[in-house]
Amino acid sequence: MATIEHWIGGEFTAGSATRRGAVFNPATGQRQHEVVLAEPSDVDAAVAAAKTAFASWSQASLSRRTKVMFAFRELVNARVKDLAEIISDEHGKVLIDAAGEVQRGLEVIEFACGIPQLLKGDYSDQASTGVDVFSFREPLGVCAGITPFNFPAMVPMWMYPVAIACGNTFVLKPSERDPSASNFVARLWREAGLPDGVFNVVHGDKVAVDAILRHPDVAAVSFVGSTPIARYIHQEASASGKRVQALGGAKNHAIVLPDADLDFAADHLAAAAFGSAGERCMAISAAVAVGGAGDPLMDILARKAGEVVVGSGRDPRSEMGPVVTAAAKERIEGLIGSGERQGAKLLVDGRGIEVPGYEDGFFVGPTVLDQVRTTMDVYTEEIFGPVLSVVRADSVDAAIELINSNPYGNGTAIFTSSGEAARRFQRGVHVGMIGINVPIPVPMAYYSFGGWKDSLFGDKHIHGPEGVSFYTRGKVVTSRWPHVSGPSEASLHFPTAS
Ligand code: NAD
Repeated sequence: MATIEHWIGGEFTAGSATRRGAVFNPATGQRQHEVVLAEPSDVDAAVAAAKTAFASWSQASLSRRTKVMFAFRELVNARVKDLAEIISDEHGKVLIDAAGEVQRGLEVIEFACGIPQLLKGDYSDQASTGVDVFSFREPLGVCAGITPFNFPAMVPMWMYPVAIACGNTFVLKPSERDPSASNFVARLWREAGLPDGVFNVVHGDKVAVDAILRHPDVAAVSFVGSTPIARYIHQEASASGKRVQALGGAKNHAIVLPDADLDFAADHLAAAAFGSAGERCMAISAAVAVGGAGDPLMDILARKAGEVVVGSGRDPRSEMGPVVTAAAKERIEGLIGSGERQGAKLLVDGRGIEVPGYEDGFFVGPTVLDQVRTTMDVYTEEIFGPVLSVVRADSVDAAIELINSNPYGNGTAIFTSSGEAARRFQRGVHVGMIGINVPIPVPMAYYSFGGWKDSLFGDKHIHGPEGVSFYTRGKVVTSRWPHVSGPSEASLHFPTAS
């Protein structure tokens, strides 16, 4: 059984860890690797390596940084298949979906390749007589990323390409459930010419996270994960004076109006609810059927859910793989049972599904619950599994009200053929990312990604322009050259004339 080690200062090390975690293959249910779990001294070592590397990397020219970014982009692009296999074996998602995740991460790397353009400052010539004013942005120092299991390649790529292109150094603490993708990427960085110590990976759990949050040499923390941990990260990192962005969980609603193409809507709803076994922060987990859309929509949805091919992520016929752990399977199945007990109509039941040859795998089949009420556990909990809850509403306004009453505000979508309804929806919902006839409206890398309310703690969304702003701080210079512009008198008061 292979041991997955930290990557610190350009080499693999087991560090001082005495604790190890198990990494499972969710399709077979077998324990396949062990991962070392960091102690605070390992975090100290990674931060020290990153701090040393910052001294020279922060001074590397834009051309040098850009060359490394382009080389890294080429290497990741050439290894999409390898990365997809690593992801599938530890997360469970099907290969094509894993490749799609790498593709979305690549788009952030490509965005970061444009860093010379992104870091251009402003210049005001002759702001006052003989005085020019200009601004530029500098990197922060050592930045840390703490990431969830559900996108082991893409979510870290929301962070480190932008941070590193901006001149920072980085310590990544990926999920301990699927840690291998981060080590694979570490080697590619080195091959791309990134100096040792600029990108480090520390594996671990709460012990490692707490050491990062309290470390005096960590300037900024980016977190993506569940809401209770995001709230904790934001509070702790802020209390120790760090810049922090902490993206949390979600309950994404899609509303379907009677004027929508119901076949199209049901197709996309099923894909958005069951893709990646529902383990996406932008998965649609609640559909709101408005008025007459309800009954016909349910018929098509039930049929679509029943048609999804569930199997190992490595099997090219599979459309949906297992969930990540045995505990996740148990929790999801428990919630389906509670939905039924609390009065929802269980149209398609994914419990007890068997995949021949993978009897010990953590599989849960697509599940559809109708007549769900907002007090039920299936509605109030983020299930993070292939379970679609359908709520009925009388009007668009009632559906908007329902969405706005929810504590989360990550993503939402509307299916309609009415421009008027779509516009009312996009302006009325208190949600960060909105799809119009697009069920999973993940913004492109050159926009920023982020939710509202309990889906994000902090001011800045991730990647895109807000990412550049998060990983840098501004300087404004007011400059005068007296020997060029002529002498001017000093005065004790602020100028009243130009
Ligand atoms: P999680 O919150 O359990 O773990 C995220 C990270 O926090 C991991 O690195 C983990 O090691 C660490 N962690 C876990 N418990 C901790 C604790 N008590 N103290 C300190 N650190 C701790 O999340 P997960 O189960 O890995 O991922 C699924 C969650 O992530 C879902 O809630 C999903 O919605 C959310 N998510 C959100 C987004 C987004 O963009 N908003 C994207 C992906 C996933």
